[in-house]
Amino acid sequence: MGRRKRRRTRPVAVVKRKLPTVFQCPRCGAQAVSVTVKKTKEEKYVLVRCSNCGLSMRYDYKEYLEPVDYFSRFLDDYGEGKISSQEENIGGENGESEELHNGEN
Ligand SMILES: [Zn+2]
Repeated sequence: MGRRKRRRTRPVAVVKRKLPTVFQCPRCGAQAVSVTVKKTKEEKYVLVRCSNCGLSMRYDYKEYLEPVDYFSRFLDDYGEGKISSQEENIGGENGESEELHNGEN
């Protein structure tokens, strides 16, 4: 039968998915990096943190940025060695470079 079905399949409407907020950690490889917006009385910031190995970094909150944008900055910063492995090392951002030396302690 030569009946042609000419039905245009419309592209299925793209369902707006919830944007992922959990990403893969560049250090330990676990799918455990979360991007959280933190609010304090005076400021809002974004904390990117791996719940597996504790790698974390905070960023200024920007309305127009998506979690994935923070994550890509996180990756960049990690790649450049800006993110220290210590969790406490959050917030100090005054251009002082501190080299990590092993064997100190
Ligand atoms: Zn990790």
